[in-house]
Amino acid sequence: MISIKRPYIENENGKSRLCAEIAIAPEIYEKWKKQIGSRREYAGYEKAYSYGKDKFQLWYEVEDRSEQILCQERTDAFVVAVLYFAMVTGEDIEYEGVLSNELYHNLNTNLIPMHCNERSGLKPIRIIGRTESRKIESLDKNGTGVSRGVDSFDTIFTYLAENMDAEHRLNCLTVFNVGSYNNMPDLRARKTGMMTLDEYNEKAENFFSHDVEKGRQIAKELGTDFIAVNSNINSLYQGVFLELHGYSNSSAVLAVQKLFSHYYYSSAGEPEKARWGVEEDASDNVQFFSTESLQFYLARENVTRIEKIQHISQHETGRKRLHVCCDETENCGKCGKCFRTLLILELIGKQPEFKESFKDTSAYEKKGWKKYVWILDKKDQDFFAKDIYEYIKREKMKIPMIAKAYHYTLPVRKVIHAIRGDWKG
Ligand SMILES: [Zn+2]
Repeated sequence: MISIKRPYIENENGKSRLCAEIAIAPEIYEKWKKQIGSRREYAGYEKAYSYGKDKFQLWYEVEDRSEQILCQERTDAFVVAVLYFAMVTGEDIEYEGVLSNELYHNLNTNLIPMHCNERSGLKPIRIIGRTESRKIESLDKNGTGVSRGVDSFDTIFTYLAENMDAEHRLNCLTVFNVGSYNNMPDLRARKTGMMTLDEYNEKAENFFSHDVEKGRQIAKELGTDFIAVNSNINSLYQGVFLELHGYSNSSAVLAVQKLFSHYYYSSAGEPEKARWGVEEDASDNVQFFSTESLQFYLARENVTRIEKIQHISQHETGRKRLHVCCDETENCGKCGKCFRTLLILELIGKQPEFKESFKDTSAYEKKGWKKYVWILDKKDQDFFAKDIYEYIKREKMKIPMIAKAYHYTLPVRKVIHAIRGDWKG
């Protein structure tokens, strides 16, 4: 059993926090570690952290003047926060206070049976506590996250479009510190002892502050409000994020639910493919986190990465401020995400217009014909590569012969990499 106490507000050092005590017994943490450690990408992850106590305070923090938007009348944020942990470990959730009835219904009737059943092998869990179907009074803002990535900007420009109806028009951008800043390269460094836990957390905190500053500037440029929410939810999930970002981000929205009536959550997945399952990047879940007063939307499903970049390229703020890099606070121009985006920009003829976003493209240019090899090698298993490949064919563009010839050496390269132990799948 995972127990959540009644939410309350704390004010300190010019900040306000919505808090609740969460009790999780040590043996449940052991179950979690075993489950997560068995996933290939998280093998040995438990070396990065230690779960100390069986009780901890989970919190969501905003600037002091924003205290009135924290929702202590509902336990919604905290139930959604621990839900993924509960499903993976097969533990029921018992809570104090009240849950929005709509959310309670969505979770029990749809989300939990979807993930916890005989097919998945996960034990169905129960959510136990009182519910309330009265609406929460809110400031009726329409929000979305401003991570500055492709999905984020595409959603922003979609809901800011002139023809968007007033009810749904975007008017508030958000930045949440709910796990994305504790990124994979740093988790690996932490696992191998190259980084202390304090350094790891401090780096995440710095990334967050940087994004808050950038997010605030973009909101000003686009004429919307802005809200930042800090949280310690990563102390529960400890670096596991990709599979549960829909849960942790939505929990932050629910913590400030007196602000919103609509929230747009960018779909980041493969077009035309539903991604159910606790080991998938399952942002599809977000619609089940809606309450009587707050509706979540999965924004821009079935739109390809190329279509989104084409859309963004029509807006100056997007061209100037697109940030796709996971490794650096500015686009490094070297990592997989930077490479992929630069390749799309080149193919659609927009790379020069994104000069401010990608200041250094020298590493990309050095690749020459080799940049096409990735598309050919990966087109059958990576949907980004597949999209780009299909775009090239549709537009009747040419892939250099030398890249095609090199692609045919893939089986040999795989063997060589396997011997050297550096094949990346
Ligand atoms: Zn990069």
